Amino acid sequence: MVTGGTGLVGSAIKEVIDAEGNSEEKWVYLSSKDGNLCDPAAVAAIFDKYQPTHVIHLAAKVGGLFANMKHKVQFWRDNVNMNDNIFQECHKRGVQKLVSCLSTCIFPDKTTFPIDETMIHDGPPHFSNEGYAYAKRMVDVQNRMYKSQYGCNFTAVIPTNIFGKHDNFHLEDSHVIPGLIHRGFNCKKEGKSFDIWGSGKPLRQFIFSIDLAKLMIWTLRSYDEADPIILSVGEEDEVPISDVAYAVAKSLDANIGGTPLEVTFDTSKADGQFKKTANNHKLRKYLPDFKFTPFEEAMDITVKWFLENYETGG
Ligand code: GDP
Repeated sequence: MVTGGTGLVGSAIKEVIDAEGNSEEKWVYLSSKDGNLCDPAAVAAIFDKYQPTHVIHLAAKVGGLFANMKHKVQFWRDNVNMNDNIFQECHKRGVQKLVSCLSTCIFPDKTTFPIDETMIHDGPPHFSNEGYAYAKRMVDVQNRMYKSQYGCNFTAVIPTNIFGKHDNFHLEDSHVIPGLIHRGFNCKKEGKSFDIWGSGKPLRQFIFSIDLAKLMIWTLRSYDEADPIILSVGEEDEVPISDVAYAVAKSLDANIGGTPLEVTFDTSKADGQFKKTANNHKLRKYLPDFKFTPFEEAMDITVKWFLENYETGG
C-alpha cells in the first residue's frame, strides 16, 4: 500500500511496478480521496479495507518556503499526526515493512558537506521550515524505537531533489525543474528570453522519479536497517542551476522547434541555499552497479510528458 500514491513519486512507483508485471503482488495506491491520514479512525478504516503487508508512506503536508514559514504549527501537527497514525497501524497489524520518505531539507542548517545519514540530528534545522523538519526527524526516531521495542522492520529513505512526470508544474509554487519547463514553454510561445531566477550558480543533486521509484522498491524488498538511506546521484553529479536551465532550453527547442530560447539570469531573485551536497556512499555499498538515468535523457522524458499533458492540466 502506497500512501500519497498518485503524486510525483507514487505514480513513478506505479509505472515501475506495472512494467514488472508481477502478478503475485497486489499494489494499492492511495490518494487523499481514500481518507484523511491525520484522523486515526480514517487510517484504521483504510488498513481494515486493504490489509497491507508492506507500506510505502509518501503522504505528507509539504509546501514551499513561504507556506512553511507561515504555518509552522500545521506543518508540525499534520505530519506528526499522520506519521504517528501510520506507524501505530503498521505495528498493530504486523506490517512486515514500512518505508517512509524524508528529505534533505530536514538536516541541520549549520553543517559540513557532504551530508550523510548519520548527521540528521546534529543541530537545529533552518528556522523557516522547523515545523516540517522536526516532524520528519521524528520518523527516523520512530523507526529506531519501533525496532528496539517491538522488532519492527521500519525504515526511511532520504531523496535529494526529485523531478519527473506528474510533478507540480505551477509557474510560481513549483520546484525549479517543473517551474522552468513551464516558464520556458511560455517564453517560446511568446518569443521572450528565458529568465532564470537567481544567479544560476547554486548546486543541486537531482534524481529522476523513475530511478527513485526503483530504489524505493529495492528498499522495500531488500534494505533491512532501521537507519535511513540517502537515495541520490553521487556528489560528482551535482549540477549548477544554470546547467538545468540549458538542459530545459535544449529539450524544449528540440521538441517544439522554432527560435532557440535565450537563457538569461535574474539576479534580483533569491538563490536560496547555495548547496546541500549529500553523499550516496551507503547506497553505493549496497548497489554499486545501479545506473541512474542520464540527466538530459530524464529531462527530455519530463519535457515530453509536460508537452503531452499540459493541455489537460499537467
Ligand atoms: P530547493 O532550493 O532545493 O528547495 O529547490 P528549488 O527547486 O525550489 O530551487 C533550486 C534553485 O533553483 C534555487 O537556487 C532557485 O533560485 C533556482 N531557481 C531558478 N529558477 C527557478 C524557478 O523558476 N523556480 C524555482 N523553484 N527555483 C528556481
